[in-house]
Amino acid sequence: MTSSGAGAAATPATLAEPHQVLRQVFGYDAFRGPQEAIVRHVIGGGSGLVLMPTGGGKSLCYQVPALCRPGLAVVVSPLIALMQDQVAALRQAGVAAGALHSALEPEEAQTLWRQLNAGKLQLLYVSPERLLAGDLLERLAALPGPEPLSLFAIDEAHCVSQWGHDFRPEYIQLGVLAERFPAVPRLALTATADPRTRTEIVERLQLQEGQVFLASFDRPNIRYLLRDKQEPRTQLLRFLDDHRQDSGIVYARSRSRVDKLAADLRGAGFDAVAYHAGLGAAERSRALERFRSESGVVVVATIAFGMGIDKPDVRFVAHVDLPKSLEAYYQETGRAGRDGLPAVAWMVHGPGDVPQLRRFIDDSDAPLAQKRIEHGKLDALISFTDATGCRRQVLLSHFGEALPEPCGNCDGCLEPRARTDVTVPAQKLLSAVWRTGHRFGAAHLVDVLLGANTEKIRAQGHQELSVYGIGGELDKEQWKSLIRQMTGMGLLEPVPEGRGGLQWGPEAEVRAVLRGERSVELPLPPPRQERRRSSSRSGGAQGPGASAEWGEADPELVAALKAWRTEQARQQAVPPYVVFHDRTLLELAARRPGSLAELGEVGGIGAAKLERYGEALLELLGGQ
Ligand code: ADP
Ligand code: ZN
Repeated sequence: MTSSGAGAAATPATLAEPHQVLRQVFGYDAFRGPQEAIVRHVIGGGSGLVLMPTGGGKSLCYQVPALCRPGLAVVVSPLIALMQDQVAALRQAGVAAGALHSALEPEEAQTLWRQLNAGKLQLLYVSPERLLAGDLLERLAALPGPEPLSLFAIDEAHCVSQWGHDFRPEYIQLGVLAERFPAVPRLALTATADPRTRTEIVERLQLQEGQVFLASFDRPNIRYLLRDKQEPRTQLLRFLDDHRQDSGIVYARSRSRVDKLAADLRGAGFDAVAYHAGLGAAERSRALERFRSESGVVVVATIAFGMGIDKPDVRFVAHVDLPKSLEAYYQETGRAGRDGLPAVAWMVHGPGDVPQLRRFIDDSDAPLAQKRIEHGKLDALISFTDATGCRRQVLLSHFGEALPEPCGNCDGCLEPRARTDVTVPAQKLLSAVWRTGHRFGAAHLVDVLLGANTEKIRAQGHQELSVYGIGGELDKEQWKSLIRQMTGMGLLEPVPEGRGGLQWGPEAEVRAVLRGERSVELPLPPPRQERRRSSSRSGGAQGPGASAEWGEADPELVAALKAWRTEQARQQAVPPYVVFHDRTLLELAARRPGSLAELGEVGGIGAAKLERYGEALLELLGGQ
């Protein structure tokens, strides 16, 4: 891990205002959801429990106060990989952070201790067992300064709960922090919303006096798409075809299925690796490492692949088998889209999955009462898969949250079963296919119909066609849905030789539609305004469609930025997202800042990153 940048930060005393820290260090303009209230509470010396979904922004809740309060912040975290990522990201932002763990080289440990004893370290990540072992607590208490410790943050706090699924006995001992350091704020954080776990955290960590902060558990940028299971393998390949180059996870139930699917995906040209408990430790950690540090890797896994995946740019999570409960589904799909950019949770399901799951429960050694609970959880999952309306409403209501309007970003909303007469749009589409010469794909056809001003349209002279811009009655998503469905009906078919190109299906059928002798009735997603209205309800910060905020980003420029980032990450031996998140690259490509001052306004570029990367970025942006 690089140590460059550590210690380069301004001293905490000069950075006391939380908004200023947010902008200067992390490069963000506004706090999200309850972040600000939490940050102010902790800066004021308060303790508490934060319940926030994955990707909600828990880290800033303690990182900002850590930089606003005097003294060292101690962050308890269960996994080395998580600690390393966080430390690398903080150092990139110019914060003096370090991690104490068993994989640390002796020299690194020495440097860390030197920084610590000199009062120079701002955040220290440590595992619970390391924190409580030996005399570490005494040494922390004896650090220089009138207030040596700024706060304790206890991440993944649900590990303290024996009821939950990630129980770690070491966590229980963390209760002593309250007794040993009554004046130091303690903030416990988790993404597990279950009320019983919550109560257990408060009791065991002695947070009764603290405040509970509950964020919405909605993840508006995740699109839930459920499909009837027919040929899971073929369906998966078709789904993945829209996700080439994307990082993602495919969950399957058994090890043998995982191995087979991974091989199939490799055969279809995907960079797929298998992950399950039957593989050796070395093979598993190699898979995890590749997934973390490269982009475009698809991990095919059993649920053994889970905890500790904080990769922000997972673009899809696919299930080819039913998970075991709605909680498990929510947690597994929650690994997608932590960066707030659009992501997909895709699942095939069918009645055939259920008897096997019931049998697993019945055949287990669990006591009868436990079996009853498991059956109940399975029932809740089935009512989710069988729902005909909005998936998100069902999901959130299961977690005790009401969503008044349908979400507009799930299959229930986007592909409602009610049919409308789309004969006229179908005619327009068929003539657009004919006039552009039977060779373009859906995206270009939609651009022509909607009268977009793209380079490809200008190059082809398609703005001169009579079909240019005549498709205003439907929006992009609706046109795409129409194209998919007409392809499914055989009115359009893929060009045999072309990647993604479309041509007419059998001429007689097409002509019947064009002459109005045959009407076309299909279900369409609701129009864009309605989708936007309902999906912007939780504050646009995480909303889908980043391009809507800044305009379209040039894909070539994005690719160039990504290549540059890969090289930076390689040189510094950190994962690419530690250098910049995708979101930052997209914003850069769309806004094309021309000066350092403009660069500094881009989300995710704080003072340290501006200084380190600013010139190189301006050169890259100017040269394209
Ligand atoms: P969690 O730990 O809750 O899963 P993280 O702390 O990793 O989530 O944050 C998720 C993502 O959201 C990160 O990419 C983080 O940089 C980003 N983020 C968090 N807070 C903000 C904010 N106020 N403005 C912009 N981005 C934010
Ligand atoms: Zn919905």
